[in-house]
Amino acid sequence: MNFELNDDQIMVRQMVRDFAEEKIRPGVARRDEKEEFIAELLPGLAELGLLGMVTPEAYGGSGLDDLSYAIAIEELARVCPSTAVTVSVTNSVCQEPIVRFGTEEQKRRFLPHLAKGEHLGGFCLTEPGSGTDAGALQTRAVRDGDAYVLNGSKAWITNTHVGKVFVVMAVTAPGTGAKGISAFIVTSDTPGFHFLPHEKKMGLRASITSGLVFEDCRVPAENLLGQEGMGMKIALATLEVSRIGIAAQALGIAQGAFEEAVKYSRERHTFGVPLADHEAIQFMISQAATQIEAARLLTYRAASLRAAGGGPGQSQASSMAKLFASECAKAVCDTAVQIHGAYGYSREYPVERFYRDVRVTTIYEGTSEVQRMVIARSLLRD
Ligand SMILES: Cc1cc2nc3c(=O)[nH]c(=O)nc-3n(C[C@H](O)[C@H](O)[C@H](O)COP(=O)(O)OP(=O)(O)OC[C@H]3O[C@@H](n4cnc5c(N)ncnc54)[C@H](O)[C@@H]3O)c2cc1C
Repeated sequence: MNFELNDDQIMVRQMVRDFAEEKIRPGVARRDEKEEFIAELLPGLAELGLLGMVTPEAYGGSGLDDLSYAIAIEELARVCPSTAVTVSVTNSVCQEPIVRFGTEEQKRRFLPHLAKGEHLGGFCLTEPGSGTDAGALQTRAVRDGDAYVLNGSKAWITNTHVGKVFVVMAVTAPGTGAKGISAFIVTSDTPGFHFLPHEKKMGLRASITSGLVFEDCRVPAENLLGQEGMGMKIALATLEVSRIGIAAQALGIAQGAFEEAVKYSRERHTFGVPLADHEAIQFMISQAATQIEAARLLTYRAASLRAAGGGPGQSQASSMAKLFASECAKAVCDTAVQIHGAYGYSREYPVERFYRDVRVTTIYEGTSEVQRMVIARSLLRD
């Protein structure tokens, strides 16, 4: 597989890198420290088309190819993982399923606002009692005339409070397992839709995560996404693609931490020479660079496969990319802290933030254990 980037992809990389360096980097530490959402960055992100990357131009998006999308998320995460997750979620788990499974009317109603960044989107699968075992979700949707009435609660949802459009999974046919789950497009101004207080997180502190509650929340029947009973299929198809974005996020975090470690190893002296002159440090740097390159190849391969139409190998490729990139990124951030010694343990240095931000990448959009299950299933089914 050839990963030579074309002119458009090179341009996207440069454009996002410039924006991240000039506009995002100056406030990263402050926003993390104060748990301040990235609101000030949204107009700039929208102007560059980054809030509607997966939506076709016909609906107001930038219609980027999958590899360009991954590159953009990687570049955002290299500087600010909180920005990367906010952008990734509104694109890949909100707009993507509407593009793929929505009716023409739903696309026209929701996508232009999302793609232009007037609204942010989210995805509600996880509940207080069901994360990995997503099929055990309890939120109920009962048909009542021209609406479905939703009752239940969701947990750990990204882009709440600031988000307007949410793809929500709920049970329409109890007792029938995953086949009884349906997907709905629900707007946060619907009566009976309530956000819970923000989670106090270890990392990604400039992104928003919280639970939410549906209390007799009447969702118009025309907001059913796909057919009744298709909810789990839509969720899994969405995650199969969005995991490439999380792999790219992990990759960007690893790259950012790695660059800090290399810089520090040249500046800090011990025993009369820069750290970079010690073989032990050189080996750490070599190992990290090799891990990052391998993660990049797997991530770009999964994105390129999707751009070529996906197919039966997609879920395995996406899960391998997400598993490998997130586990590598965790190891690279650990190495970056080690190279910084005590200063790596200080909030004054960015590697401390990367170390906290990276931790969730092996947890959300399917834990590493889930990725291993998906990979094993695809390997052993034939
Ligand atoms: C910052 C953040 C943002 C998030 N954003 C969203 C969002 O926008 N939308 C959304 O729907 N969800 C979101 N999530 C939720 C996330 O996807 C879940 O936390 C994740 O799927 C794991 O579910 P859980 O936390 O319930 O863990 P559990 O399912 O309780 O698992 C606990 C541990 O047990 C392991 N485990 C569970 N079952 C098995 C098994 N059969 N075999 C082996 N190991 C197993 C897991 O891998 C994990 O290590 C977010 C989470 C975080 C932290």
